[in-house]
This record gives sequence, structure tokens and C-alpha cells, in this order.
Amino acid sequence: MKILLRFTPEIIQEPHIAEVILETGAKLNIDRASIDAVSGEVVIDVPDEKCDKVIKLFRSRGVVVSVLEHPIVLDEDECVQCGACISVCHIKALSFKEDWSITLDERRCNQCGACITACPHRALEFS
Ligand code: SF4
Ligand code: SF4
Repeated sequence: MKILLRFTPEIIQEPHIAEVILETGAKLNIDRASIDAVSGEVVIDVPDEKCDKVIKLFRSRGVVVSVLEHPIVLDEDECVQCGACISVCHIKALSFKEDWSITLDERRCNQCGACITACPHRALEFS
């Protein structure tokens, strides 16, 4: 499961991710990170069986946690099946189905946003 962590200025300097890994033994894979001196957002992939414990620990440290059930949302009414989003997805999370509609492998998507930028019809957005 993917979760989004938001770090406020009060806690950004603390090694929360390392501590949660040590305390839970969970193999956390960082998909995306945007961090500066005063705030940060990190998307991590958490093994399903460790998710509850990991989320609870982050929240106990003051980290704001959002579960990303659907990392990217597609507006099927706006999509014209041009394939531009598929071309720019570097990890091949997007593909055509047999009927040429677009499908997303939510487990692979790391919310890089490239497909959102590439879509000429603004059919894609972060959830
Ligand atoms: S956000 Fe990035 S990884 Fe996810 S589907 Fe779009 S291009 Fe692929
Ligand atoms: S780029 Fe936009 S319009 Fe084109 S296939 Fe992808 S979602 Fe649909």
C-alpha cells in the first residue's frame, strides 16, 4: 500500500522514516520525495501486512499520513485514448486495455506526475 507522509517544520529534521523502519522491521520503499529545510512530502510503499503498524507509528510522531488508495484518477469522459500518458510513464504503470481504454497499475505508480503534465485533455489528476 502507498502512503503519503507530510512533515511539518517542527519535525522535518528528525529521522522518522529510519526510526519507523527500525521499530517495525518494515521494508519501506520511497517512491517520491520532496523535502526542504522546513517541510516535506514523501510517498512510500509499505508492505500490506505492516501498514497499520507503520501508519500508527508515523502518526504518533506527528507525521500527517494519507493512504493513497488511488494514486492517480482518470476522468474517462475527458480521455480520448491518445496514449500520451503511456508514452511518458517511465515505469510502465499505464497501458491500453483491449478496448483501447487506459488502465493504471496502481501498485507501480509512484505519483511522479509526468502523465498529468502530458495529458492534453487534463483527464488525469492526483487523487
Ligand atoms: S504519475 Fe508517473 S508513475 Fe504514475 S502513472 Fe503517471 S507517469 Fe506513471
Ligand atoms: S494522455 Fe490523457 S487523453 Fe491521452 S490517453 Fe492519457 S489520459 Fe487519455
